[in-house]
Amino acid sequence: MEKSKVLSIDSIYELLEKKTDLEKRLNQINMSNLIYKGMRDCKITFIEAPTGIGKTYSSLIPSIVEIGLNNSKILYLTAKIVLQDQLIKKDLPNLHKIVEVDFKYGLLKGRSNYFCWLRFDEAFRTHGLIYQNELDSIRNWARVSRDGDLNEYDDFLVHELKDVISVDYEDCPGRKCPYLLSGACHYFRLVNSLNDLDILVSNYHTFFFNLINGSFPFDFDHILMDEAHHLPEILSSACTRQISKGSLNYFLPRGFALKIVDREPDILLSVLNDLKSLENYVNNLKISYENFFDELQNYCIDPKINKDSKIVTFHKTLSFLEKKGNEIIDISKKILKEFDEWEKFFQKVGTKGLADAKLKYYKRKIDFYALAISDFLSLNDYPNFSYSFSVEKGYLSIEPVYVNGILKNFLDLQPPKSVTLYSATLTPDKKTFSYLENELGFKADNKIVYESVFNYKKQAKIIIPQNFNIDPKSSLFSTQVAYAVERILDDFGGHALVLFTSQKNLNETKRLIMSKKRKYRYFFQGEKPNIQLVEEFSNDSSSVLFGLNSFWEGIDVPGSSLSLLIIDRLPFPNPNDPMMIMREKNEGREVFNKSYLPNAKLSLRQGFGRLIRSKNDIGVFVILDFRVLKWGFLELFRPCDILYSWEAELVRKFVWEGE
Ligand code: SF4
Repeated sequence: MEKSKVLSIDSIYELLEKKTDLEKRLNQINMSNLIYKGMRDCKITFIEAPTGIGKTYSSLIPSIVEIGLNNSKILYLTAKIVLQDQLIKKDLPNLHKIVEVDFKYGLLKGRSNYFCWLRFDEAFRTHGLIYQNELDSIRNWARVSRDGDLNEYDDFLVHELKDVISVDYEDCPGRKCPYLLSGACHYFRLVNSLNDLDILVSNYHTFFFNLINGSFPFDFDHILMDEAHHLPEILSSACTRQISKGSLNYFLPRGFALKIVDREPDILLSVLNDLKSLENYVNNLKISYENFFDELQNYCIDPKINKDSKIVTFHKTLSFLEKKGNEIIDISKKILKEFDEWEKFFQKVGTKGLADAKLKYYKRKIDFYALAISDFLSLNDYPNFSYSFSVEKGYLSIEPVYVNGILKNFLDLQPPKSVTLYSATLTPDKKTFSYLENELGFKADNKIVYESVFNYKKQAKIIIPQNFNIDPKSSLFSTQVAYAVERILDDFGGHALVLFTSQKNLNETKRLIMSKKRKYRYFFQGEKPNIQLVEEFSNDSSSVLFGLNSFWEGIDVPGSSLSLLIIDRLPFPNPNDPMMIMREKNEGREVFNKSYLPNAKLSLRQGFGRLIRSKNDIGVFVILDFRVLKWGFLELFRPCDILYSWEAELVRKFVWEGE
C-alpha cells in the first residue's frame, strides 16, 4: 500500500461500490465534495446530514483524498464514545482496506482513561492492603499493554482504583517523571506518536481540555466536528466550575503531606513534620469551607428561599456569607504563600521535580477553590455567568450562560485550516443554521441541509391523540400519561421505545406497567447499563424500552424492535436549569423563541430520529403533548401523515402490512 497514492472522491466511491454493498447515494457524494471544498479553500462548513446519508464515510473520504494530495493531518472529533468506537473499529479499518492507501489512524481518549505508573506506585502504597490482588493483576496487564488504555483491562476495575491509577494532568511531573524518561509511560508514548498519524479520532472534551492546558498534541490541518449539535453544551461544560466540600476533601485528602514526601522520601523525609504543619493549616481551611457550605446549604433549603427546587440560582450577593467567604480567601492566600516557600525550599534542597509536581497540584486546587469563592461572593460577570447551588449534590456551580465566541477562542489557540461541523440535527427547523451560528458566535462560509434519504411519507406516521389533551403542567399528567402509554403498548403489542422528559412520568408508567403481566418484556433505564439495555431491547423484537434524556439520541435500532415511538411531552429545556433562568432574566419574553423553542425542536428531531433508521423501517410516532400543534412543530414531520387519534387496527396494518 502506498500513502502518496492520489485518489479522487469519485474513484473512492467507485471502489466502495465495487468492493462492498454500499449503494450510490448522491447526497453522500455531494457531502464529501463539499467537505473537500472546505478543506481546499480553508473554510468553515456547516452540514446537516440526516440519518441514512452515511456521514462518517462522507467525511472520511475527502480526508483520504486530502491526505494523498497534501499529506494533511485530519482531526476527527466526536461527542460520544459509541461513534469513536465505530470509527476506530469499523469505518476506518474498512476504508483502509478498500482504498489501499496507507494512511495511518489512531485514537486519543481523555487522560483519565490511561494507566499511569507513577500514580500506580502511590496507589500501591495507599491501597495495597485492600486491593493487593487487583493491583498485582493490573501491574501485569500494564507491563504488556501497548497504550495503557484502562478500558482494555479485562477484569472489572472499581472506580476508586481507576481514579487513583489513571493519568491526572495536574499530578504529572512530565519530563521529570522517571517512567517518562525510561520510556515506560504509556500515555506519553502514545501522545508522542500521534504526529505519525494522518487521522486522529478524539472527543471534544479531550480536545478542549488539552487546549485549555497548553496545546493539543496532534498538529492537525483540518478538523471534522461530528455530532456538532452537542457543541454548545460541551463548550459550556468545558468552562463550568463546580466546587463542593466533598470534592475539596477528595482533592486535598488527609495525609497529603506524606503523599508529597513519598514522591522523594530520600530528600524530604526529614521535613515531613514541618510539611504536616502545612497540612494542619489546610485542614483548618477545609473546616472553613465546611462551615461555608453548611451555611449555604441551610440557606438554600429554607422554604422561604426555595420552594422545592433542587437547584437554587443566585441573583444577588449573599452578604451573610461574606465573612466566611473572605475568611476562606484570606486563609487560602496565606497557605498559597506557604506553598510558595515550600516550592523554593524544594528547589534549594534539589528535589527532582516529582514532589514539586505534587506540591503544585495541591496548590492549584487551593487556588482554584479560592477563586471560585471570590467570584461567588461578588457574582463576578453576572449575568453572563450563572451562579447556582445544588441542594441535592451540595455543589456550587459557576457556568457560562452563553458560549458564543468560545469555540473561536479555542480554535485561535491552535488554528486549523478548515473546520467542518456536521450532525443529523444542526438546525431546529430543517432549514437555517442561524440558531447554531448565534449560539456559537461562529459563522459558516458554506452551509447546507441535505434531504433525508428515507421516504417518510411511506415509512412513518405521526399520531397526536386529540382526546389526550391534558396540560403537561397538570398534577394529573403523569398518571394520565401512564394509562395512555399502557393502552397503546397493549394495543400494539410492544415493539416500542417510550421516551420521557421526567423521572416522575417514567416512574408512574413503570409502576403501572409492572402491576400486571404483559405480553412483551420491558426494560427501564437505570436497571442495567444503557448499552446492555439497548442490546437486549434490539434482540427481543417485541420488547419495550422506557428511557429518559440519554435515550433521546444515539440509539440506533433498525428493524421491527422499534416500530413504535412514544414521547410523554415536548422536550423543552428545564426552566429550573440555572442557564435557562439566567437567559430568561437577560432576554425576557424573547427567551422562548430564542432558546426554549429551538432547543425543544432540536431535541424532538433527535428523538424522532430514533424511529426510522433504514430504508426498510416503518414506524409510528405518538406524541402525548397537544402543544405540538403550535409553534411550528408540525413542520418538522413533513411529509409524514398526521393522525389525530390512536387507531390500533390502522396502525398495525400500516406497520406490519405496509398499508
Ligand atoms: S509521565 Fe505522567 S502520566 Fe506518565 S507515568 Fe509519569 S506521572 Fe504518569
